[in-house]
Amino acid sequence: MIDKVLCYSCSKSKNQLNVKKSSLISINLLLCETCISSKFEPRWVVILAGRQYGAELVKDVILKKRYLGKEISASELLV
Ligand SMILES: [Zn+2]
Repeated sequence: MIDKVLCYSCSKSKNQLNVKKSSLISINLLLCETCISSKFEPRWVVILAGRQYGAELVKDVILKKRYLGKEISASELLV
């Protein structure tokens, strides 16, 4: 057992985290209920997906602000 598992999205330690497949890239994420119900993707996943597959894919997530943290700028999506 790992005793301190943090939610990939909000980085908070929660009693229960769920494995959820990212809607952007094919990886499994550990997310808390709050982030799952808000349809949040971790910020780094949004950036990674944008760099890998283009800004078009992540545009919606960015416009609807379905991530936590500092705003993702266009330059961050460029490699
Ligand atoms: Zn969370």
